[in-house]
Amino acid sequence: MKMLSSRLDPVKPSASAWVSQAAKDAIARGEDVIDLGLGEPDFDTPDHIKHAAHAAAMAGKTKYPPTNGTLKMRKAVVGKLQRENDLEYGVDEIIVSNGAKQVLFNAMMATLEEGDEVLLCAPYFGQYKDIVLILGGTPVTIECPAKDGFRLLPENLSKAITPRTKWIMLNLPSNPAGAVYSNEDLRALGAVLRDHPDILILSDEIYEHILFDGRTFRSFAAINPELKDRTLTVNGVSKAYAMTGWRIGYGAGPKVLIAGMTKVQSQICSGACSIAQAAAAAALNGPQDDVRRFCAAFEARRDLVVQRIARIEGLTLDPPGGAFYGLIDCSGLIGAKTPDGQTIETDADVTAYLLRTAGIAAVPGSAYDLSPFFRISTAASEAVLDDAMNRIAAAVSQLERGTD
Ligand code: PMP
Repeated sequence: MKMLSSRLDPVKPSASAWVSQAAKDAIARGEDVIDLGLGEPDFDTPDHIKHAAHAAAMAGKTKYPPTNGTLKMRKAVVGKLQRENDLEYGVDEIIVSNGAKQVLFNAMMATLEEGDEVLLCAPYFGQYKDIVLILGGTPVTIECPAKDGFRLLPENLSKAITPRTKWIMLNLPSNPAGAVYSNEDLRALGAVLRDHPDILILSDEIYEHILFDGRTFRSFAAINPELKDRTLTVNGVSKAYAMTGWRIGYGAGPKVLIAGMTKVQSQICSGACSIAQAAAAAALNGPQDDVRRFCAAFEARRDLVVQRIARIEGLTLDPPGGAFYGLIDCSGLIGAKTPDGQTIETDADVTAYLLRTAGIAAVPGSAYDLSPFFRISTAASEAVLDDAMNRIAAAVSQLERGTD
C-alpha cells in the first residue's frame, strides 16, 4: 500500500531541520555537540513584545482572527513598509501568516500551474525548491557562484527565462550565503524583468535588518517601482526580533495575489495566532534598539568566524554581507582521508565527519544546491563559536590531504 501522495516523492525533509534533529538526538544521548545547523537567533524575544502578547490574551483577543491578519497587524505592516522600505500598500494588499514560510507556500499554491517554472538562485533557502516540487511546479536553478558574490547576475537571469517562467525568487540578503545586492544590481535585474511582463517576482527580505559593514537596505519593489504590481515582498518577525517560535510572517503585493493567498490560507489554518499577531505588531511598532543590538552582535560573530576560518587550511569563507550564516567552501577537503581511512568525497561527507569527530552540526551545501560547501549558523554566542572554530580546526588538521 502506498500511503503517501506521490506529490511528496521528490521532496526531501529540510536539511537544516534534519541536521538540527541529529544534533539534538546526539545531545540527548549525552554527546558533546554544538548545533550550528538551524537558522535561529539565540537571543530571547524582547520583553515589550512579550508584554503585548500577554496584554492581548488578557484583553480577550482569543477568538479567530480575520484570515488575512488582524487589522492592527496589517496596519503595523503598512506602517513598517512605509517607514523603513519606502513602499506604499493598503491593508488589503497585506497578508499575515504563520511565518514567512507560510507566506511563500500560499503564494506558490495560489499561482502555480503544473510545469510552471520557478527560478531559484543557488545557493538558496531549501524551502523554495520543495514547495515548488510539492505543488507540481518545476524549480529551475541558476548558479550564483562565489566569484559573483553569490549574486544573481542580470545576464544569467536573462538566459534562464523561458515562456514557462512564472516566478523568480530573490532573497535579500540571502540565506545561506549572506549575498548582498547594491541598488544598481537590483535595478539591472529589474531591467531584465521589465521585458517579461508575465513573470512574478518574490522578494524575500526576512534578513533585511541583518546587514553588515554599514550597508543600508533597499527593497526590490522600492528600487523597481514599475514592477511593484507583480512583486510579492515577503518578510517576518522571526529573524529581526528573535521571534522564531511565534510564527508570524507577512507578505505585501497586488490585491489579486493577496486575495488568492488568503483563499489558500482560509483552507489551511484560518489565519495566524491572534496573540502572536499582537506581539508582532508591537515588534514592528515599538522601539527598534534590540534589532540594532542583535545586528551588531551578528556582525561581531561574523568577524570572529571569518578570521578563524581564514586560518584553517582547506576552508575558505568570503565575509558574508548580511544574515547570520557562514557558507564555507570546503573544496580543499575533497579527496582527503579521515583518520579512520574514509575518503571525503562530498560536502555531506565533510559535515558527517565534523559531526562524528568534532561534535559540530552543520548543513552540507548540497541542501542549497551549491557544492562543495557547508553552512554554519553564526546565531550562537561568541564563546560557543570560538569553541566550534577550535573543534573544526582540530578535526580538519587530522585529515590527510593531498599536496595541493
Ligand atoms: N526565508 C528565508 C530565507 C529563511 O531563511 C527563513 C527561515 N529560515 C524563512 C524564510 C522562514 O522564516 P519564518 O517562517 O520563521 O518566518
